[in-house]
Amino acid sequence: MEISVIIPVYNEEDNLQPLFTRLTAAMDALGRSWEVIFVNDGSRDKSGEILRGFCKERPDVVKFIDFNGNFGQHPAIMAAFEKASGDVMVTLDADLQNPPEEIGKLLAKIDEGYDVVGSYRKQREDSFGRKYASKLVNFARDKMTTIRMKDQGCMLRAYKKEIIKAVLATDERSIFIPALAYTFAANPTEVEVEHSHRNAGESKYSYYKLIRLNFDLITGFTLMPLQLFTIFGFLCSLGSLALGAYLLFKRFILGEGIWLYAPFAVTFFLISVTMIGVGLIGEYVGRIYQVVQARPKYMIRSTIGFDK
Ligand code: UDP
Ligand code: MG
Repeated sequence: MEISVIIPVYNEEDNLQPLFTRLTAAMDALGRSWEVIFVNDGSRDKSGEILRGFCKERPDVVKFIDFNGNFGQHPAIMAAFEKASGDVMVTLDADLQNPPEEIGKLLAKIDEGYDVVGSYRKQREDSFGRKYASKLVNFARDKMTTIRMKDQGCMLRAYKKEIIKAVLATDERSIFIPALAYTFAANPTEVEVEHSHRNAGESKYSYYKLIRLNFDLITGFTLMPLQLFTIFGFLCSLGSLALGAYLLFKRFILGEGIWLYAPFAVTFFLISVTMIGVGLIGEYVGRIYQVVQARPKYMIRSTIGFDK
């Protein structure tokens, strides 16, 4: 059974050598046939050159995909999925936050018959803000979607080939691979893994990019925000009707004056509700638009090691 390890790389020049040393040692020690596919996601540092060096050093196991620009971590992984030859595919970050030595643990679970093996970080080594933001989005995803995983942000995961085939068959633009794979899994499980500080460099995810990613996750896997909005809008319109009736009653039956500011308050409230609705609908319409455009998800500049 061949193992494909897939690593997206974006400006990770100082991490690649230690990663490669530890990865090759850990994988060779497993005694299975394996390959690693590095995807250079438009790095502007020396990452591309270093990866080409690895291809020369270990042509037996290293494959390389060079993107034409920065298309994002998930599209990079998708490109590697399409070209990988393994029966099991393992995704891993390049910054050594997920120790390559843990791959064996995931593969043992695959051997037991699980088709998707996720992981959760024992002791997460990230900034305070990131950790709590993660807790919040994990909670929201758990309540709003049918996807059950302890730690959606941990990318050290193993998938059987059949699951990846299904993931590749979807024609979506905004992909969140662990969640998509989970929806196709018949028998998923999770293992606990170690987590370290970033070896070098900074996180490639700003808070803005993280919010975008979580919007992809929520809008990709549930219509609940839209539905909640509809229910909320319905309740608001009932409320404003009742208020209108009450004000009319006051004015014409009781003959009292009604407050001047009441209609304004109601109007402003409804305007704000409308705006939230427009924003949410926009999220879905935007996605429909992207699919209609049918742009390629990425563009590969060159590849190494695929044509034998
Ligand atoms: N990455 C990528 N393209 C991007 C952003 C990130 O290929 O646009 C890679 C990055 O090089 C790393 C992995 O995705 O291998 C995870 O990124 P990072 O460690 O910055 O995320 P964090 O651990 O902070 O969530
Ligand atoms: Mg990281």
